[in-house]
Amino acid sequence: MAQILDGKIVGAHVRAELADKIAKHRESHGTEPGLTVILVGDDPASAIYVASKEKACHEVGIRSHTVRLAQTVRTDDVVMAVEKANQDPTVDGILVQMPLPPQVDTTRVLAALDPTKDVDGLTTYNQGLLAGGLPGLYPCTPKGVLRLLDYYGIPVRGQRALVLGRSTLVGRPVGLLLLGRDATVTWGHSQTRDLPALVSEAEILVAAIGRPGLIQGDWIRREAVVVDVGINRQGPKKVVGDVDFLAAKSRASWITPVPGGVGLMTVAMLLENTWQAFVHHDDAR
Ligand code: NAD
Repeated sequence: MAQILDGKIVGAHVRAELADKIAKHRESHGTEPGLTVILVGDDPASAIYVASKEKACHEVGIRSHTVRLAQTVRTDDVVMAVEKANQDPTVDGILVQMPLPPQVDTTRVLAALDPTKDVDGLTTYNQGLLAGGLPGLYPCTPKGVLRLLDYYGIPVRGQRALVLGRSTLVGRPVGLLLLGRDATVTWGHSQTRDLPALVSEAEILVAAIGRPGLIQGDWIRREAVVVDVGINRQGPKKVVGDVDFLAAKSRASWITPVPGGVGLMTVAMLLENTWQAFVHHDDAR
């Protein structure tokens, strides 16, 4: 029976460490990190995510401010909000909550973002640093996946890792991070053939697809480490992952629950990236 990779425990650990560093810095220097969130439109899920990010910031001592823009805004309006935050020296991190409404050109918005404030790691610059194996601001969810594995002392080097999903936000960067840690990485995606055979070979499986229970328990290799990034809403209160949790739990050695796994790590890594950006700006001041 698998042991649990507990995002609640590891997330709380990361937040406590950060709160301590931020408090010490405030005492000695009188300054603290600042995060601006740009929230466009009235998508209820986005509003919930932003509220939980604001709360988490407050708890560790990061100043946060949310810029709310109407659903009907033009790309130029979002770019202007980004540029304003770029120029504000009290803002260390800028997070543009995705997805943006269809009339807004996401590529243009991200191109406007100062890469040193890109705490979601979505600019071409930061994605390039990650692809090149260089230090930078890396996307929060992938970083959170690696932090979970590290906290529980799970070896990555030489392991066969299968990442399902290839989005710029999750699948692609999580695979690059695993590669950077010497895993033997394979990506599976919507065009991949014979998913069960591929899954059965994986020693580390990261599922980031967005299809409830797509990965069946009996596909999973015995003693595999299973990280389920998927968040699939089933009704107002129920959320499930991409993996059939109960069946997978009886075969895996470690597994993340949904909720209570990777999602909590994402928020913790956002706070950590904001701190990282703050330290970078502080050194430059
Ligand atoms: P996305 O829609 O951009 O990407 C989904 C990926 O799944 C694509 O690359 C696609 O090729 C792949 N895919 C589709 N069908 C497949 C199949 N049958 N087999 C294998 N791969 C298939 O989504 P995303 O933004 O990468 O998010 C993926 C999931 O992770 C979603 O459920 C999302 O809600 C969740 N998510 C969770 C967190 C978190 O903090 N836990 C953060 C971001 C996203």
